[in-house]
Amino acid sequence: MSDNTASMWQQRWDAVMARNYGTPPLTLVSGSGCHVRDADGRDYLDLLAGIAVNALGHAHPAVVAAVSEQVARIAHTSNLYVNERAVELAERLVGILGVAGTRVFLCNDGTTANEAAIKTVLRARPGRRRFVAAENSFHGRSLGALALTGKEAARAPFAPFGIEVVHVAYGDADALANAVDDHTAAVVLEPTLGEAGVVPPPDGYLQAARDACDAAGALLVIDEIQSGIGRTGAWFAHQREGIVADIVTLAKGLGGGLPIGACLATGDTAEALQKGDHGSTFGGNPVACAAALAVIDTIEKDGLLDHVTTLGERWSAQLARTIGVRGRGLWLALVVTDGSAPAIEVAARDAGFLVNATGPDAVRLAPPLVLTEAEATAFADALPSILDAAAGAVSVGGVNADASAGGTRP
Ligand SMILES: *Cc1c(COP(=O)(O)O)cnc(C)c1O
Repeated sequence: MSDNTASMWQQRWDAVMARNYGTPPLTLVSGSGCHVRDADGRDYLDLLAGIAVNALGHAHPAVVAAVSEQVARIAHTSNLYVNERAVELAERLVGILGVAGTRVFLCNDGTTANEAAIKTVLRARPGRRRFVAAENSFHGRSLGALALTGKEAARAPFAPFGIEVVHVAYGDADALANAVDDHTAAVVLEPTLGEAGVVPPPDGYLQAARDACDAAGALLVIDEIQSGIGRTGAWFAHQREGIVADIVTLAKGLGGGLPIGACLATGDTAEALQKGDHGSTFGGNPVACAAALAVIDTIEKDGLLDHVTTLGERWSAQLARTIGVRGRGLWLALVVTDGSAPAIEVAARDAGFLVNATGPDAVRLAPPLVLTEAEATAFADALPSILDAAAGAVSVGGVNADASAGGTRP
């Protein structure tokens, strides 16, 4: 690989950007469908989609048209005025959630969706300030969402927080039920842990959480920021268990690459936020809403929920011939036990595939929902040699757990 342009951008990044991300290994300059191109002109099959964001892949004509039309018409109104796209999007979201009377707060990303959820909970359950969330969960980086996040290393430097959060082992229904009492304002759960490596709970876990909340008068907040909008083959992953959440948060895939988040409040929580309680200058921005409408329309029009379900099952079976796999739909993790996930990420990249080691033992796949069968198969076919290359790199000590955050740092 000629390295000139990419290393120039990496050096400039390294000199000026905050240190929080380290220096990324690639500079991506364009994309089309499930393919992206880097600054050196090399193409990759994108099996990560900007962390489950580019739901329709790159430069999808429906998103390009919707965004272009809207930006040419009116790009921003503020929430002092109605913008049509926000209303249309909220109506669509309530429709696909299927819970009448739901109210929608639009924001800019995942963490702000969860902040809105926290404030809605505090309004809906005055006098209760305790939350229950899961160990190894991820809910965002702003202080409220970070308080919920079950990663001690991410939380510790910034504690204490303004809300009290009890963390319980994910998937353990008894531990959850024991932690929920009449001081609990809400339980906040991902339907499957995303950042922790696509870890589904046992069947019945979300129903058990629903029951524990109902028994204690607590609210159930389902964080669908990564799992929602078709990722698992359903509009929302929790719908598969037939439960109704009090609050659902969305972001990532919703905007098809444009920044948008949403907090959907159902039942009595729908009326909890009062005038003046919350706001966002950019929230519900018309351009971002136009993109989200294009995403939802295209998923519906092109039958992508069925496509995700069918292709996900086939792909998972293909991959499982080579390696352990968990997850559903187009949201899978390759599972290893020897800490080689970062080396697999690097070897896959060298072979032309973008994947993501969420930790030492899981490689996340979250491709665009428009992934074709041929593209899925191409990766499954390449996997044995990728694993061989990764094993070679591990044995010579060339790749360590930091690889994904700077393995090719100049
Ligand atoms: C990514 C993510 C968030 C945070 O979203 P940001 O847009 O990065 O703020 C919250 N919850 C879950 C489940 C996520 O995957």
